[in-house]
Amino acid sequence: MSLIVQKFGGSSVADAERVMNVAGIITDTYRQGNDVVVVVSAQGDTTDDLIEKAYEINDKPSKREMDMLLTSGEQISIALLAMAIEKLGCPVVSLLGWQAGFNTSSAYGQARIKSIKSDRLKAELDHHNIVIVAGFQGINKYDDLTTLGRGGSDTSAVAIAAALHADRCQIFTDVEGVFTADPRKVKDAIKLHEITYDEMLELATLGAQVLNNRSVEMAKKYNVEIEVLSSLKRVPGTVVKEVAKMEKMLVRGVTKDTDVARISVTNIPNIPGIAFKLFSKLAQKKINVDIILQSVGRDDTKDITFTVSKDNAQTAIEAIKNTFDIEEKDIICDTSVAKISVVGAGMESHPGTASKMFEALFENDINIDMISTSEIKISVLIDINDADRAVLAVHRAFFNN
Ligand code: ASP
Ligand code: MG
Repeated sequence: MSLIVQKFGGSSVADAERVMNVAGIITDTYRQGNDVVVVVSAQGDTTDDLIEKAYEINDKPSKREMDMLLTSGEQISIALLAMAIEKLGCPVVSLLGWQAGFNTSSAYGQARIKSIKSDRLKAELDHHNIVIVAGFQGINKYDDLTTLGRGGSDTSAVAIAAALHADRCQIFTDVEGVFTADPRKVKDAIKLHEITYDEMLELATLGAQVLNNRSVEMAKKYNVEIEVLSSLKRVPGTVVKEVAKMEKMLVRGVTKDTDVARISVTNIPNIPGIAFKLFSKLAQKKINVDIILQSVGRDDTKDITFTVSKDNAQTAIEAIKNTFDIEEKDIICDTSVAKISVVGAGMESHPGTASKMFEALFENDINIDMISTSEIKISVLIDINDADRAVLAVHRAFFNN
């Protein structure tokens, strides 16, 4: 007998039919002789709808009341799912986050899980109940309800799996797993059998929205193996874990990120300390900088170009203006760029990955603006209009033979 944690996202429980489908998966698992703890999100677009409702009434609602409102979405789905399981004849109990022992920091709207007091969970399992837990929520030291930030149910599931030392943590979603590229855009995308935590984190940040980042970080920290799979099609998914032996396939995926702005600061003095000043200013403003390029100085000046997310661009520009005595025309911001990356742990020890990528781009007449490399990825910045074509070309280069 194993202890299995299963998580179902909003789309998997969007309506009565899907709730019954999910109840079927859960009761099948239970009837195979397993202990089952289920974490569920709010149905469909419930959370978005609740947020909209709030803003109809107050465009600056307090975060505390927002959490009071948003936690109700998961309260609905756990009760409905429990009723579906009752109907299928299995013993079941639904629990809100606080009943399941989720203690969090007090930061409403983005609370962190501090501990899980698992007595109640364990007692329910001892009584052979299937336990359905509301994802995305907990309680803080003031006994107020908190939420973990959008998409937080994945983290709830991983936290329970870690706290109970579950044998498996299955995250069910509406895709079949993690692919080598966005399967909606790239027909030849291949489903990966397994992937490391670091690769998953890269793919997630780069736009493969399968798992919430925080949940992957937590899974890595507590060594929880995650299986991502479809709630609609019963086929094996992708396992996220520390892969000891690399599969032969070196590159795990090709991704596109269009949430990028490129900022160039030109004609700045060619003296020591400039980069330090610039980037410490951005760090103070909590702006994450991605690719950085500094030109070789000529005469008395040099240029620095870097990328940030689009919503940080304006703040970054203001900060630079306030730090340097600089003319308007010397700061250039371009938001019509995209970052294309190939991701794969271990590629640093395999020369040729970069050249293969560049060759694919060259053959398709796609110009590279900036390049950055790390242990597990190579990224290029290109014109946003070339982005989809670039993903196809690079994906073909790595996966079509
Ligand atoms: N219902 C929450 C949201 O939509 C939590 C989740 O789905 O994981 O963000
Ligand atoms: Mg949701």
